Amino acid sequence: MADAVRRADWDSSPLGPLETWPPSLRTALGIVLGAASAKILLWGPDLITFYNDACLPLLDRSNHEIGKSYPPCKSAVWPTIRPHVEAAMAGRQQFSGPSVGVARKAGGDQIGYFTICCTSICDDDGNVLGTITDIHETTAQVQLREVLEAENRRFRELFDQAPVFLVLTSGPDFQLEYANKAYERLVGRGSLIGKTAEEAVPELAKQGFIDLLRQAYESGQPLNFRDSLVELRTQPIGPLEPRFLDFVYQPIFNGTEVTGLLVVGQDVTEQHFAEERAQALRDQLHRASRLSAMGTVASTLAHELNQPLTAIQNYAVGSRTMLNGGEEGSGMLDNALKAIGENALRAGEVIRRLRDMTERGMVRKEVFDLEEAIREAAELARSGDCERVGLSYDFTPGARASADRIQVQQVLLNLIRNACEACEQAERPEVCIATAQRNEWLEVRVRDVGEGVSREALPTLFEPFISTKPGGMGLGLSISRTIVESQGGRIWAENEPGGGAVFCFTLPKA
Ligand code: ADP
Repeated sequence: MADAVRRADWDSSPLGPLETWPPSLRTALGIVLGAASAKILLWGPDLITFYNDACLPLLDRSNHEIGKSYPPCKSAVWPTIRPHVEAAMAGRQQFSGPSVGVARKAGGDQIGYFTICCTSICDDDGNVLGTITDIHETTAQVQLREVLEAENRRFRELFDQAPVFLVLTSGPDFQLEYANKAYERLVGRGSLIGKTAEEAVPELAKQGFIDLLRQAYESGQPLNFRDSLVELRTQPIGPLEPRFLDFVYQPIFNGTEVTGLLVVGQDVTEQHFAEERAQALRDQLHRASRLSAMGTVASTLAHELNQPLTAIQNYAVGSRTMLNGGEEGSGMLDNALKAIGENALRAGEVIRRLRDMTERGMVRKEVFDLEEAIREAAELARSGDCERVGLSYDFTPGARASADRIQVQQVLLNLIRNACEACEQAERPEVCIATAQRNEWLEVRVRDVGEGVSREALPTLFEPFISTKPGGMGLGLSISRTIVESQGGRIWAENEPGGGAVFCFTLPKA
């Protein structure tokens, strides 16, 4: 130490000759001068300054100032050190905490980074004699950190521009370490970092996705999802919205241990709906082509059946004439023959008018009593399997329609038959048919006490070939719509709030 001390020019030190210096100062000086790291000793109220060689590049001073009173050291680092020194002189040990950036030369632009720790030296009575300041240069670490942070930022910027969504979670709680902009847009919220997956997007838990995250985390196996429905609340207080996503839960390993998960994916909702629309269009085309094929079959049938039906009718009339010798009969056989004749006639008419409508777009109009037409059709519809079903009516008196009576009865038959089938299992099966006047129109309502139309069936109810019945053809409602619309009317279905369905249609009033 003596050499080091002599090396400096201390003769002019305000402390006087070295031999007279207090032992505590000599000990502190020994610590400072013997240390490999940068240390500064400031002694006494005049702040006599000593520092070791390691300080030279930091302080931009030379040794000849050692032993002089503060403030000859006017290095750029002093303003940073000074508050710590003053606090330590006042009796507190001070730490600077994180690295601070300081210009290496006063007024210069070359910045160095340091951590500073200032410790007070006290006598036995606790009086502060001086301070030792440790200056630890951290420029290399800070610069490395800055490079890493810049790289990190660059990656984040890149990830933020990516069209795919990316989320990085850590630990078994799936704490979000990173979520890119695409993910924030998808879930309609930001500030996700630091939250657990469940806190960030609570609606995911109810849909089982947190359990699936756990499964990937615990098994170390990635999980892939395609066109998976995820319901998200994209507005703070809004409904859940369906999104369709392709994504993967990819476990992240540190050695052999899973430490987190990477979630990468993309929103394919638009493609999903486009595919659904294309599929609906394909189905519609398919049905249309079946319908036109059916039209051809119906025309052929009409053509082929007309003759035998006319023959049946003629034979029935002939048999009755023979049976009764030309008189009107009243026996059971006569009544049966009469019914055969009437129904054959009716079947022929139904087919002929259907053909006129589908082939030539011809619509007949006649004025008829709606109540009478409804009663006839209802009795016919109920006969056979549905006799257990009660019928009730609520008619507007004297309602007369202007339409094709036979075809309107065809619609009624379809609706009443469906209504009877829908409620025949009910405890008290009942179908009520009501009419009402609405300006130029008459409205017919057929209500049942069945289960109502299912939600899935409602949008395509009047499309052909859609049926929920085993063996059903799904043509009745489609034909009914064609008939009603050809008369200028409208047909629709509703579910009754108390259960059961109502099928309604309108006809022009006479
Ligand atoms: P089908 O009777 O051959 O199934 P429809 O075109 O008459 O053909 O009916 C199509 C579908 O509409 C039925 O399969 C049924 O699902 C539904 N539907 C019709 N009427 C009713 C009703 N009154 N109550 C509930 N569902 C009905």
